[in-house]
Amino acid sequence: MVKTSELEKDGTEAGDEGTASTLAKLIAEAPVGVLPMTSGARMKIWKQDPTVGELGIRKVYIHTKVNPGPRDSQIKIEGVPVLYPDVNGDFLFESNNNEAIDAAHTYAVVRQVLTMYQRVLGEKMKWQWNTGENTDPISVFPHAGEAWNAYYSRSERALRFFYFTPTRSRPSSQKVFTCRSLDIVAHEVGHAILDALKPAWLSWLSPPQTGGLHESFADCTAIFLALSQLDQVEYVIAQTKADLHQKNVLAELAEQFGYELGRPSGLRNADNNLKLSEVTSQVHDISKVFTGGIYDTLADAFLAGRDPRKKNDAVVLYEVGQKMATLMVSAFKAAPARNATFADVVDKMITIANDNPSEYPQYATFVQKHFEFREVLGNSAVAGPQSVAGFPLNTAGCCGTMQNLEYAGE
Ligand SMILES: [Zn+2]
Repeated sequence: MVKTSELEKDGTEAGDEGTASTLAKLIAEAPVGVLPMTSGARMKIWKQDPTVGELGIRKVYIHTKVNPGPRDSQIKIEGVPVLYPDVNGDFLFESNNNEAIDAAHTYAVVRQVLTMYQRVLGEKMKWQWNTGENTDPISVFPHAGEAWNAYYSRSERALRFFYFTPTRSRPSSQKVFTCRSLDIVAHEVGHAILDALKPAWLSWLSPPQTGGLHESFADCTAIFLALSQLDQVEYVIAQTKADLHQKNVLAELAEQFGYELGRPSGLRNADNNLKLSEVTSQVHDISKVFTGGIYDTLADAFLAGRDPRKKNDAVVLYEVGQKMATLMVSAFKAAPARNATFADVVDKMITIANDNPSEYPQYATFVQKHFEFREVLGNSAVAGPQSVAGFPLNTAGCCGTMQNLEYAGE
């Protein structure tokens, strides 16, 4: 029997050299009829959030080793009682144990975001403080306290998800937990990942567009995470009849939170037509322009790649989602270390797509078209104060991350 411990390491992901080839060798050398032991853990996650009932809460498989907590080498759940796996190594809990369900769900979604980016980048992700010998994980608090908010903090090395009592329509005893939104959890992990790649971008002294890029990266992380899950991709195809400009759960971000604020199309909607001249210097407002350009590019690339006679639409959308995630995160990595503008990142996307035409057929054309329309590129480009360092960056009303005072003086 091949031992589990030989097949996996705590938190091992793509990018750890030799993992796949080691596994292939072990399987090839195992006696006939003896298969490697199943490893990893089953958990349940809200596939969108409790208001998206058709997708609901489902089991997912985390293929890496999950320790009691749950925790692994990169993530540790805190602020709730430690959870232990059952005899099968799974973290599945009774429906009345909300604390345990929320802890397992939140761990799983953070883990899935890391796994997704590790796959597209082909390297193990690090947190901002993982320099030199430091390998400290991020602390994740699913029940951080009462507030209409969630945030990532570098100084706390933490993600905090709060809960609140809604004021609309719901019985007042029924709280809304931000951790139960896949979009909100993915959004905050996105902030943490980008902070590791570009630590100067959270500074309040950056141009408003740099703050907008942070918020957009966070929202796009939620979109790409959904696109990396086969059931969600299939759901979106059926929901839209393969037209991504129809109302759908992919474009609508944080549905439940948005509903409580009286927004029937989510907290933000990626399928928008906003141009730079139409938004304020509030970072979420600006971010919608960039996210909209990414979403339109994704929709075009999907349309261009569709051929339902030969391939299932869901497979095409999954593949396009992975490519767009790779293209976007690669462009963010290649952008300037500080004061980056939308045009800086978009230029890198076009360069990378042009340099790899077989991987990104027509993508450069789509990016150019949509970011010209949004006044980021071309004759109608609006540079404006939003691209100038020192122009007051407005973080009012946005998620708690960019409001953290720790970034004020940098
Ligand atoms: Zn945010």
